[in-house]
Amino acid sequence: MMIDPEGFRRRFEETRSRIVEAAARAGRDAGEITLMAVTKTHGPEAVDAAAAADLRHIGENRVQEAAKKQSGVKAEVYWELIGPLQSNKARLAAAHFDRVQTVDRAKIVRALDRACGELGRPVLPVLVQVNVSEDPRKAGVSVRDAPALAEAVSAAEHLRLEGLMTIPALDDDAEVARRAFAGLRDLRDRLAERLGMPLPVLSMGMTGDLETAVEEGSTLLRVGTALFGERGSGFDTCVG
Ligand SMILES: *Cc1c(COP(=O)(O)O)cnc(C)c1O
Repeated sequence: MMIDPEGFRRRFEETRSRIVEAAARAGRDAGEITLMAVTKTHGPEAVDAAAAADLRHIGENRVQEAAKKQSGVKAEVYWELIGPLQSNKARLAAAHFDRVQTVDRAKIVRALDRACGELGRPVLPVLVQVNVSEDPRKAGVSVRDAPALAEAVSAAEHLRLEGLMTIPALDDDAEVARRAFAGLRDLRDRLAERLGMPLPVLSMGMTGDLETAVEEGSTLLRVGTALFGERGSGFDTCVG
């Protein structure tokens, strides 16, 4: 889908204001919250438009779609995988992404670590995806199994655990998302203590719930619709 640059600028400003206001209400510094542009289903020009607005973190949910898009992008950006990863695509993901946010099982830890070794990539930053809401339709490790997985990641030679990511269950009640975000933050605090490392990144909050996420401590908002408008129907996915 093509994006219109003027519409993008306006939506970008609106989104910035939402973040700044939510941060002010929460007594947080908006400067510590990264706005990531989710460009899935959009062409390379969406990535270049984001970069021109100084949005350097770009989220894509499909490995092959991103790999193809990257060749058409002129700007220097930081590519983040936010969609589910199959182990047979681990090598392609390690070759095309700066960070993988969707590590949710031991098999993926092994596959990514091996891929990095084969590619001669010394370090791949990752986040562990946690299904805090225990939504059967969402990917992510359970809160209970997260500590063992986080330990496996930190023991992997080429992976660097930087924090946690979650997608809350879809619900009209904002409190459902709030509980998931607060749960992710609590889990991060416990894991950081257990592993003796900071785990600074909390990837939580999208178009519909970014204020709640900011209030609960998000450091990385993954935003598509608010920046680029509705994605075409039938093509959109927020699986995982
Ligand atoms: C698509 C997607 C987003 C962005 O969703 P919007 O509601 O368009 O902001 C965020 N996170 C993940 C994992 C996604 O797949």
